[in-house]
Amino acid sequence: MTKVQEKTTEQQPIKRDYYQLLINGELVDSSDGGRRKVYNPATGEVIAEVAEATKEDADKAIQAARDAFDKGKWKITPTGRRARVLNKIAEIMSSRFKELVELEVLNTGKSVAAAKGQIVQAIEDFEFYAGAIVGHGGSVNNVPGQFHNYSEKEPIGVAAQIVPWNYPLMMTAWKIAPAIAAGCSVIVKPASLTPLTAIVLGEICHEAGVPEGVVNILPGPGSEIGNYLVEHEQVNKVAFTGSTPIGKDIMAKASSTLKRVTLELGGKSPALVFPDADIDAAVDGSIYGIYNNTGQSCDARSRIYIHEDIYDEFIEKFITKTEKMQVGDPFDKGTHMGAIIDQSQLDTVKEYVQSAIDEGAEILTGGKELKPEGFENGFWYAPTVIGNVTQEMRVVQEEIFGPVVVVSKFKDEKEAIALANDTEFGLASTIWTTDGARAKRVANQIQAGIVMINTPFSAFPGTPFGGYKQSGFGRELSIETLDLYSETKSIMSYFGSRPLNPFGL
Ligand code: NAD
Repeated sequence: MTKVQEKTTEQQPIKRDYYQLLINGELVDSSDGGRRKVYNPATGEVIAEVAEATKEDADKAIQAARDAFDKGKWKITPTGRRARVLNKIAEIMSSRFKELVELEVLNTGKSVAAAKGQIVQAIEDFEFYAGAIVGHGGSVNNVPGQFHNYSEKEPIGVAAQIVPWNYPLMMTAWKIAPAIAAGCSVIVKPASLTPLTAIVLGEICHEAGVPEGVVNILPGPGSEIGNYLVEHEQVNKVAFTGSTPIGKDIMAKASSTLKRVTLELGGKSPALVFPDADIDAAVDGSIYGIYNNTGQSCDARSRIYIHEDIYDEFIEKFITKTEKMQVGDPFDKGTHMGAIIDQSQLDTVKEYVQSAIDEGAEILTGGKELKPEGFENGFWYAPTVIGNVTQEMRVVQEEIFGPVVVVSKFKDEKEAIALANDTEFGLASTIWTTDGARAKRVANQIQAGIVMINTPFSAFPGTPFGGYKQSGFGRELSIETLDLYSETKSIMSYFGSRPLNPFGL
């Protein structure tokens, strides 16, 4: 057992052979000594082992988080001082940027360019909440003259934060930063495939001055440890990012203790390309919109609807650029697309593409597994465009979570909007047009939490991120996220000159 504050940064390299659990400010083995191998998806090689938490460990983490919240000082630390700690976290992350990027690339197989962008955003997220928390507070409310009412924001308590494998460090930052800024304690459950950078971020939090027990990192199986946290009565809130089916299960289970719940779930986001669009910009943006992060993004624009007048030109350019995508060595700066996270996800992508073929769609390019030279044992799939689709097809309705996009035509604005909204999801969408009035009109009618106009970039720290419909609810990355880690307390006072005697007794 090692106090984490004594053993980070200079003394301890970020890349190691073995990563421990982080509970109550200590790096510890799992209570039963269990370890899990963690792989590099680009090569299929083991890169490290990680301690795998048991329910006993979860109990310790919950107790530590509870004690830190109920008896500790963090929640009563002035916001300015909390902000300084958040800024220090950002500073340490910046100073270890290269190592964090390297570890993220090794554990996810994503391109180094993608990892860099995401870690920059993770850093800026801490900086954003450092600023935001200082201005976050309650309000004075309108009441009759003899009364005075104000409301205060109080931290919600202990939050279980469950994150997926597609953006391991960035998603963990999205979770930890607002929660600790608001004064909560957290237990982060990273995805089993990608726990490494989350553990390191937990260590950095302690090094920056976050007190023991406020940030606990608990890698372990979702169905067991994630589920245990969700059902535990000492946990006040669950913030979950992951697939829609698991999100629904979590919502049902959290109801038994009426936990506060935030769900950031899946998507099947559309891009609409209107006839007045700058076609080259729409092609380049849509290439990024689907293939960024190897298509393993909740906001991937995986359906592109193109006006019939420009369909042929758009498709020709889109396919030409898709075929130019460099897929391979994640550490090569020129690589556009890295590996798929594991064999199971690769099989899922393959199955979806086969289902499209079986249902009569046409593979316009890609549609096959790849074996880049030197990476033959990793998990790779070609950037893939599927045409001749109908709205009922599984590839049009279901989230594939791979580098696969479906394309089809529309006749007019009304049809474009109807097609965009013809989904159970509602996370993101992009509109490509040079007509500002059209952009606004269409944006108003799209049922999604995020609408992008002439850009594929869906978020920066400060912009609300989250979904409509079955993409979940609650927003991350923004000021309102602080409210989702707070309770509002209304404080009513009476200042009348005569005592109140409402019953007149
Ligand atoms: P997943 O739902 O399989 O797992 C997410 C996390 O939940 C993991 O940590 C996992 O261990 C845990 N988990 C699994 N079963 C659980 C259970 N029964 N109880 C509690 N926790 C459990 O998702 P994934 O495959 O890791 O990630 C991909 C999914 O995440 C996609 O659907 C993607 O769209 C979604 N996602 C959404 C957003 C967003 O902001 N909307 C962002 C990124 C990813």
